[in-house]
Amino acid sequence: MRDGKMLDPVCGMIVDVAEQRERGLTIERSDREYAFCGGGCLETFAKDPKRYIPAVERWLATGASDPPRM
Ligand SMILES: [Zn+2]
Repeated sequence: MRDGKMLDPVCGMIVDVAEQRERGLTIERSDREYAFCGGGCLETFAKDPKRYIPAVERWLATGASDPPRM
């Protein structure tokens, strides 16, 4: 998670985790919380998480546009 933002790996949007959590649009898996822009993306992810998790991993590893968290 970067500065409270997370990649919605289904459509590629960057979403605010806390905001989406309030709306019930996050999924917690192992030590990570995935967030989605809408119910459609959440359902798509839930059906086949393995297909989308690598996109999140990649974004977390290389999405260097955000400043480091203080
Ligand atoms: Zn989406």
